[in-house]
Amino acid sequence: MSELAEFRRDIAGWLKENCPGGARGPGQVASGSSKVKLPRDLALWLERCAERGFTAPTWPKQYGGGGLTPAQARVLYEEMGAIRARSPLMGMGLSMIGPTLLEFGTDAQKERHLPKITQGQVQWCQGYSEPNAGSDLAALKTRADDQGDHFVINGQKIWTSGASTADWMFALVRTDFSAPKHEGISFVLLTMDQPGVTVKPIRLISGSSPFCETFFDNAIAKKEDLVGQLNKGWTVGKRLLQHERSGIGGLSGGARRSNPGAQLAKVAKTYIGEVDGRIADSAMRDTIIRFNMHRAAFQLTAERANEENRSGTPGEATSIFKLVGAALQQDGADLKRQLMGTRGLGADGHGFTADELEATEEWLHTKATTIYGGSNEIQANIIAKRVLGLPE
Ligand SMILES: Cc1cc2nc3c(=O)[nH]c(=O)nc-3n(C[C@H](O)[C@H](O)[C@H](O)COP(=O)(O)OP(=O)(O)OC[C@H]3O[C@@H](n4cnc5c(N)ncnc54)[C@H](O)[C@@H]3O)c2cc1C
Repeated sequence: MSELAEFRRDIAGWLKENCPGGARGPGQVASGSSKVKLPRDLALWLERCAERGFTAPTWPKQYGGGGLTPAQARVLYEEMGAIRARSPLMGMGLSMIGPTLLEFGTDAQKERHLPKITQGQVQWCQGYSEPNAGSDLAALKTRADDQGDHFVINGQKIWTSGASTADWMFALVRTDFSAPKHEGISFVLLTMDQPGVTVKPIRLISGSSPFCETFFDNAIAKKEDLVGQLNKGWTVGKRLLQHERSGIGGLSGGARRSNPGAQLAKVAKTYIGEVDGRIADSAMRDTIIRFNMHRAAFQLTAERANEENRSGTPGEATSIFKLVGAALQQDGADLKRQLMGTRGLGADGHGFTADELEATEEWLHTKATTIYGGSNEIQANIIAKRVLGLPE
């Protein structure tokens, strides 16, 4: 038996024994917030995975990661998918600031922040966008004034996802107003639970409030939480965006993304019916096959890109994966909703199954994948300029 096959057997056995029933199938996933109380099974699942380093499988063991190779991590995600285990932990700590600190953080910053992320003890939020700085992010005006051992921050961020439950924020702030706009920006970390930070939820038409406005009124960021050099935060901030786009585009894997193709066929057979083991509607069968081929080609390309890039996230080319991956996610969610018919349009309750409610949520959520992390047009601009080298 090959080493990887042996690893798969061990992992499958461990998962069977350790993934509680309440952490399988659709439902809540831990975000690490100290303000959100987890149901017992989810808390147990998080604790068990954190103990094995499975919340951040490829991170170094010294920071609470699993020290796994990308191939082993893929096996872990596949086996989690096979038993419908939820991701033990999600959030911007794992997907954005963690990988950025691994590259740009000092040893002290890594020691201070990474273990709390892998243990699911903190939730992070992203302070990038401002009312007049979204696509043109470098136009940001939130200022940070140097006060010796700390910065004093004044200004406003907007669309801060999860700010109301987050413990920490990573933020881009202006530290030099006289420099060209990309050169006077610094990347800082600050706590949300301080008098200078006010969070106001933005209520959506659906009634939920996934994001907030965040106001800084003499907020404090310690100097020890400046990541990278002063005024060189654009480089750090751009790299973090590549990690974010890699996550949105599906480059970085995860249990929930294990095998959407097989899921679609199953959904089709359930809602449309099957004849001799095949999906009953031949036109829908073709549509699903075409989608699955696109998806498989994308996944193989993503794996190749990951293998070619030892740091796990490619550079500017990440925008290609964000652009194509976000569209695939939208197409996949839309297809699933179509297959379910009106059952795929359920809001809370009303006799819908958990899978049906999740399909509606996924369909609505994926509408935003072509906006957050930088819109489609911005990704196309980056690909044109930085990947293809086309003139302005
Ligand atoms: C669900 C969701 C969650 C988010 N979470 C966060 C978060 O946690 N933290 C955070 O900081 N931000 C967050 N954002 C904000 C997100 O990053 C911005 O919405 C995005 O970057 C676009 O900026 P904007 O909304 O200001 O739109 P604009 O920049 O005003 O763009 C409007 C339109 O113009 C187009 N456009 C703009 N400039 C160009 C150009 N040069 N060339 C071609 N087209 C152009 C855009 O593509 C877009 O279609 C979130 C957004 C969403 C939808």
